Amino acid sequence: MSQPTEQKFATLAVHAGASPDPVTGARATPIYQTTSFVFNDTDHAASLFALEAFGNIYTRMNNPTQAVLESRIAALEGGTAALAVASGHAAQFLTFHTLLEPGDEFVAARQLYGGSVNQFNHGFKKFDWNVVWADAQDPASFERAITPKTRAIFCESIANPGGIIVDLPAVAAIAKKAGVPFIVDNTLASPYLCRPKDFGADIVLHSLTKFIGGHGNSIGGVIVDCGTYDWNASRFRYKTLVEPNASYNDIVMANAFGNFAFAIACRVMGLRDLGPAISPFNAFLLLTGCETLPLRMQRHSDNALAAARYLERHPKVVWVNYTGLPSSACHSLQQKICPRGAGAVFTLGLKGGYEAGLKFVSALKMFSLLANFGDTRSLVIHPASTTHRQLTDAQRTAAGVGPEVVRLSVGIEDEADIIADLEQALNAL
Ligand SMILES: *Cc1c(COP(=O)(O)O)cnc(C)c1O
Repeated sequence: MSQPTEQKFATLAVHAGASPDPVTGARATPIYQTTSFVFNDTDHAASLFALEAFGNIYTRMNNPTQAVLESRIAALEGGTAALAVASGHAAQFLTFHTLLEPGDEFVAARQLYGGSVNQFNHGFKKFDWNVVWADAQDPASFERAITPKTRAIFCESIANPGGIIVDLPAVAAIAKKAGVPFIVDNTLASPYLCRPKDFGADIVLHSLTKFIGGHGNSIGGVIVDCGTYDWNASRFRYKTLVEPNASYNDIVMANAFGNFAFAIACRVMGLRDLGPAISPFNAFLLLTGCETLPLRMQRHSDNALAAARYLERHPKVVWVNYTGLPSSACHSLQQKICPRGAGAVFTLGLKGGYEAGLKFVSALKMFSLLANFGDTRSLVIHPASTTHRQLTDAQRTAAGVGPEVVRLSVGIEDEADIIADLEQALNAL
């Protein structure tokens, strides 16, 4: 018999991790809307609690609908295992909770989703986990930020608010030299446009809320263990991975679970103790989103490129920052890291500053004014008056969102209607 060949992305997006329900024959993955699962007998119950057997206990820790979503994303990212949780921020929280001890540091690109900047600057400080900022456009700045306390490096593949592609192989090489895991938030790219593992990532995170769910109807997050970081060989003792665990009969995670120990540790300690579980219903909706991810991401990218080309030529637009345009400083990196397309999200600067920005977003009719991206629908926001309102002008400009900046998340509607809406709003200025 010939060996089965590895399935292609679009096939995995539809099938990975799922099979018809063995009891009912249901073809779609059922929503297992239950809190708890019956044990076969007392021995079975004991072995599940001791982590000697895999199985369902309680939906805070695992659930069959969630498990299909996890297998699907792990397959799309090329990882060994994944853990789905309540939100993208929960995925970041559990990742760092598993890696860091109080007093530890991690290096992160400064150009991140605004919520991540807050989480790292404020929420994490309460645990004495300390972020040291680097510049996403300057890989050497990551190396300069490393100290003896550094235990991880973090960046986004396509960095917020759009317009930057990180040189992942260069940052991965710095992480490798420093001996720490390289964590990539792949939310804006999705695994269809970029697979960070292929460029040296050890852990990949997503806000499933965005492109993977894709329809703007559910919050979720995921941690993907790429299986590439050798916890036992590390010169740093990541306690959660390499020390005997008193809450599980002194199991050592890295020994018991090998190349998927990180995903297991995030589940059986982080998720168990901190509790941000995903609901089975959200797991079902996000899984449904996965099935059309390749179709949607291609359409998002094609529509965004068409919109960016249109805007770049418009006399009321000063600049367009979209890595899919040859005018972008990141265009050659985009061709290397995200060759299928540059994604849905980009920024532009309007003549007329703050006032023009406000007027433009109010005049758009099909684009919805809201603080999200990765919806099927076209979305817009004026960061200076909303998400970045609390910052000073200097901070806003440093973050790439000065007063004149508008951010678009281009949807999957017809290209002609998207451009017509942009045109009528520009005419209104
Ligand atoms: C939205 C987002 C997050 C946070 O995800 P939530 O699901 O909103 O918690 C993290 N990183 C990026 C890049 C995001 O876009």
